[in-house]
Amino acid sequence: MPTLAMEVSGEVGNKNIDEFMELLDQKIHEAKDTLIERFEWICSQPPESAKFMYENGTMEGYIPEEGIRSALKHGTLALGQLGLAEALQVLIGCDHTTNKGMELAKKIEQLFKDRCAEFKQEYKLNFGVYYSPAENLCYTAMKKFQSKYGKIPNISENEYFTNSIHVPVWHKMNPFDKIDIESQLTGYSSAGCITYVELSDSAKNNIDALEEIVTYAMDNDIPYFAINLPNDQCMDCGYIDEIGESCPICGSKNIKRLRRITGYLTSDYKTAFNLGKQQEVEMRTHHTDISSSLEG
Ligand SMILES: [Zn+2]
Repeated sequence: MPTLAMEVSGEVGNKNIDEFMELLDQKIHEAKDTLIERFEWICSQPPESAKFMYENGTMEGYIPEEGIRSALKHGTLALGQLGLAEALQVLIGCDHTTNKGMELAKKIEQLFKDRCAEFKQEYKLNFGVYYSPAENLCYTAMKKFQSKYGKIPNISENEYFTNSIHVPVWHKMNPFDKIDIESQLTGYSSAGCITYVELSDSAKNNIDALEEIVTYAMDNDIPYFAINLPNDQCMDCGYIDEIGESCPICGSKNIKRLRRITGYLTSDYKTAFNLGKQQEVEMRTHHTDISSSLEG
């Protein structure tokens, strides 16, 4: 979305919004056409190409006489998105942590939602809006953006674009404020989303605080919620904690850094992810300045 925002007329921070909405709409339709083309291609394969999938009730609804379309039509055709925060910066000079930014964010997400509902009716297939983690695209799209537009403050200074509708990872705020912002947008996603808060290692001993955060998320329309805690292990002596540069027990620098980067736990993000995602993890602020909001 940040690249689409750049392509419309106007200066960065003061772009032509109507033009952007029109271009986005066009791209949503192109994405739909691509999804249908792929769907039709998969449907043209013989059942023998993935025999296991169509036996033993693995996929619901398979009727041999009707071909594999009978099973595949129950799947999801998802339209993902990346970098809402940066796109808003390009368009109006602020992201959705502000009221002005949130207002436009809702307009953009409503367009995705409306179009997917229309496509669903028209094609009788499960189109949905997906708040994608874009593990690779977050980096490759940024590289392309930078080679075309250079480094623009608050937009392309980093090596990654912000995940879907997430609050940029470097914004300092407590978990409740993060939930308040992202929960205003989760309802537009019918194909999947995740909201997480990033806590420091010490939070694992504060069960009451953890429970309060989870309850707050559940009460506020967050369908998929995660609390991320760093978990580092010294590969020489076995010590486990949040470890800085080297192990405080034996001094080893051979540390395995277990993190939940997107939806999954990743054994060592330093080897499993591209440079963009690695930098994103390192820039994540801990939403642990929670003492003030948890007291009383
Ligand atoms: Zn050690």
